[in-house]
Parts: sequence; structure tokens; C-alpha cells
Amino acid sequence: MTTVGILGGGQLARMLALAGAPLGLRFKVMDTSAEACAGQFAPMVVGDYRDDAALAEFASSVDVATFDFENVPAESAQWLAERFPVFPSPRALAVAQDRLAEKTLFRELGIPVPDFAPIDTREDLDAALARVGVPCILKTRRLGYDGKGQFRIRSLADADAAWAALGEQAATVGLILEGFVAFDRELSVVAVRGRDGEFRTWPLTENWHVDGVLSASLAPAVADDVLTATAFDYARALAEALDYVGVFALELFCRDGELLANELAPRVHNSGHWSIEGSETSQFQNHLRAVLGLPLGDTRMVGHACMLNWIGAMPDAGPVLAEPGGHWHDYGKSPREGRKVGHATLRADGVADLGHALERVGRALGREAQVAPVIARLG
Ligand code: AMP
Repeated sequence: MTTVGILGGGQLARMLALAGAPLGLRFKVMDTSAEACAGQFAPMVVGDYRDDAALAEFASSVDVATFDFENVPAESAQWLAERFPVFPSPRALAVAQDRLAEKTLFRELGIPVPDFAPIDTREDLDAALARVGVPCILKTRRLGYDGKGQFRIRSLADADAAWAALGEQAATVGLILEGFVAFDRELSVVAVRGRDGEFRTWPLTENWHVDGVLSASLAPAVADDVLTATAFDYARALAEALDYVGVFALELFCRDGELLANELAPRVHNSGHWSIEGSETSQFQNHLRAVLGLPLGDTRMVGHACMLNWIGAMPDAGPVLAEPGGHWHDYGKSPREGRKVGHATLRADGVADLGHALERVGRALGREAQVAPVIARLG
């Protein structure tokens, strides 16, 4: 019996455990909160990732470990990697944890990125503003997610406010200034690389964010072959450079037909949730196959899929369940503003049917604004 340890016990760990059940896997999760929702499906160690005793308790009876959460301290990941296989490797994790290291690697690999500059002091900010120009975004280098730890600078007059908001964190998590990309759309590549180097991608996905949080994903994205091949080439180059094992997502901005890399998420990703029903093999199943050294499954699509995120509180399930291709995922979390509590995936054989299903669900749930950009894209 193989036990997979997962650091972080949120919905990603929960969906990994659900996907691993048919493979006969056992799971053990570790989280700082006793409420973490993967704890409803797997034994959980509650403790700080820096607490040696808690980490040792987690490590006992685990055969291989992976992550639902990338901000696990690098030393903790390293400590585990000295005891059993840990995928992705602590090195890949370290790069993806730091926006500066990540953007530097993108650039080295010839992957276009928005202009950026590391910021350690207020003077650095002034110098970088002069070089990068406005509008731009000041971000924490580490520990930011879903638009948190970011300050949008619209004009030079905002510099003081940006520093007041984030300056203190220059000494702790570090800061980076990035040029603001007036993108036409946001895309992501969700990809998997096996222990033997086999590499597969799911179809290119288009994503819509509201207040920095993913709201909807459409797969396959409406995109031409050249754009798609370029996005896949970038993902492959990254996976090979990092000797990556497991699933990751590369988030991209698309501006005037050009792709710019935003970030690398070293784990299964929200923009790949549609793959549970929309693909021959889901991102969760393939992540487990990759970390266990099993053959990877086919990533081809089964029709067209749109995932809608539920933020804050779950809506009524009825309208989605009434759809022929409607699938419901309630993460078992208590409602809280801004929290990802669940998602739905609508799947259909053709784009017209998918559009109609989105219209019905959007209307029934009063979520017209959430589905509107997807419907517009489907034409
Ligand atoms: P992040 O946490 O870096 O993924 O940012 C969350 C969201 O904020 C992105 O998906 C974009 O919608 C927006 N965003 C982040 N960085 C930029 C940028 N440099 N230019 C434009 N929008 C951005």
C-alpha cells in the first residue's frame, strides 16, 4: 500500500486524494489548520511546516510527498527530500516561490516576460519606476497569491502609497516591480512531466480573473496553432530546465498575439480543474502518476469545458446538476469572503451547446456577469 504525503490540505489535496482512490493510494496531509478540507478525506497532521516534530509525524509512513501549497519553507521540503522522494523537487519549488528567480529563469530560457526589477529600498522603487514606467505593479516576491501582496501603480504619484502598503515587506519577503501588461486575454498551460522525462500538456486554457482571483476557465482556448505551439514550447522548456516532475501551470498574458509569462505554479492548478470531467485523464490523476513513476494518462479533451469558480459561498447546485454536462464540486469549506469554496464544470460536445449551458446556468444563478466573457469568446 503506497501512502502519498501532501503538504497543504486545501481543495487541491482533497481533489488529489479523490483522484488517487481508484489507484488504491492512501494519503496523509499536513496543514497548519485543523479545518483544512482535505482532512475530511485523509488523515491529517496539523502543525507548522517549520516544526520538526510535526514534520516528523507527517513523514512517518509516507512513501512519497508532494504539495498542494507552494509556500512550504524550502528547508522543510529539503528535510523531507532527504528521507523519501519529494516531487516537484525542492529546487523547482524554490524557483517558483520567488517571482524574481522565476522571471529571471523565464528570461534565460527566452520566454518573454513583462519588464521587471527587484526592489529592496525606496530609492530602488524610484529608479525602477523611471525605467519600467507606469502603469506597473509592485508585488511581494514571495508568499503572494490570488492578487494578494500587490499594489497597482497608475502614476508616479502612487509611489508613496505603494511603498506605504508594501515597503515593510522589502526586508522579509522581498519586492519586485513589474510593468503592467494591457493584455487582451489570459491563458495558461497546464502540463505534466513524468519521472522519466515524458512531457504532456492539456489543451491551452483561457482564464478570466475578478479582483486577481480566477473566475472562469475555458478549454480548449480559442487560439491558433502557432500561439498554442509557442505556449507549449515555453512550458516544455521550463519543465526541462527544472527537471520538473508532476503537474504545473504556466500562466501567460496574451497581448497583440504575443505571449508574456506571468508565473509558474508548481502544482495542480485551478485553471486545470476542468480536466476532471473534460479530459481523458485529469490533472490530479496525472500528477499522482507522475510522482509515483507510473505511465502518464492521455491528456486529450473530451469535448469542450468551462469551469466556474465559486468564491465566498456556494450557490444553489440545482441549475448545474440539471445540465447534461454539469458537474459540481463542493470543497466542504465554511463560507468566507474571497475564499474558493467550490467550482462547477460544464462540459459539452460542441461550443454552441456549451454556450447555451452557460447562459442557462448564469441566468438561473444570477451569475450573468461571470459567464458573459466566456459566452462572448465562444461567439
Ligand atoms: P498573480 O498573482 O501574479 O498571478 O496576479 C493575479 C492577477 O493579477 C493576474 O492573473 C492578472 O489578472 C493580474 N496581473 C498580475 N500581474 C500583472 C501584470 N504585470 N500586468 C497586468 N495584470 C497583472
